[in-house]
Amino acid sequence: MRRSRTHAAHAVRRSPRSWPLMDAALVFFAGMVVMAAIVAIFPVDAPIGTTRSPAVASPEDDVEVDVKPSLKEAPPAVAPPPRDASGSGLVAAISADPVEELRRRDLTLPVHGIKRDDLRDGFNEMRGSGRRHEAIDVLAPRHTPVVAVEDGTVARLFLSDVGGITVYQFDSTEHYVYYYAHLENYAPGLTEGDHVKRGEVIGHVGTTGNAPRDTPHLHFAIFKMTGEKKWWQGTPIDPHAVLR
Ligand SMILES: [Zn+2]
Repeated sequence: MRRSRTHAAHAVRRSPRSWPLMDAALVFFAGMVVMAAIVAIFPVDAPIGTTRSPAVASPEDDVEVDVKPSLKEAPPAVAPPPRDASGSGLVAAISADPVEELRRRDLTLPVHGIKRDDLRDGFNEMRGSGRRHEAIDVLAPRHTPVVAVEDGTVARLFLSDVGGITVYQFDSTEHYVYYYAHLENYAPGLTEGDHVKRGEVIGHVGTTGNAPRDTPHLHFAIFKMTGEKKWWQGTPIDPHAVLR
C-alpha cells in the first residue's frame, strides 16, 4: 500500500515537471517515427544487405588477400610474356604438322653407324592381331649403341612382353615421347628422370621382347602426347617421315 501511495505521489509530483519532458518525448517519438520510416524502407534492402554483407565481405577479403599475392606475382608477371610467347610458339609449332616440326629439329639417328638411306618405312605394316606397327625397325648388330635422338628426359624404363627392355624418353618440351624397344640392355646407370643429351647412349641393340632372336634391331617409335606427360598415351608419328 505504501508503495502505491508513493508511486502516486511521484506521479503527481512529476506531472508538472513532465511538460518539458513531453517536448523531449515528442522529439524522441518524432525521431522514432523517422527511424520507423527508415526501417520501413530498409527491410527491402535489409535481406539483400545481409546477403550482400557476407558476400561483399568475402570478396573484399579476397581482394585484400589477392592484392598482396598479385603484388608478389607482379614481378614474375613480367616474365610470363616471354613464356607465353615461347608457349604460343610451341603451340603454333605443334599445332602445325608434327612431322614437319620434328623434321626441323634434325633428330639424331637412334642407332650408331646407320645412314638415313638405310631406314626403311615400316610404319603402316600390319603386325599380329590386326595391329599396325606404327614404328620403324632399324636393323643393326647386337650391342650396337642406341642413342637419344635429341635432348630430353628419361620418362620411363619399362620391361614389356612385346617391347622387351624399353626406354620412353620425353623431348625437352615434353610434348613428344621417343620409344626405344628390344634393347639388349640399358646404358650403365641410366635412371628414370635422367636428362639425356642428343646422341647420348641410352642402351644397346638387342632382341628382347618379341623380336626374332636372329634379327637384332631397334624398334623406334614417336608419339605426340595427348595428355600431360602421359608417356603411355599419344598419337603415333611416323619416325621414317621424320628421320629420312
Ligand atoms: Zn618394330
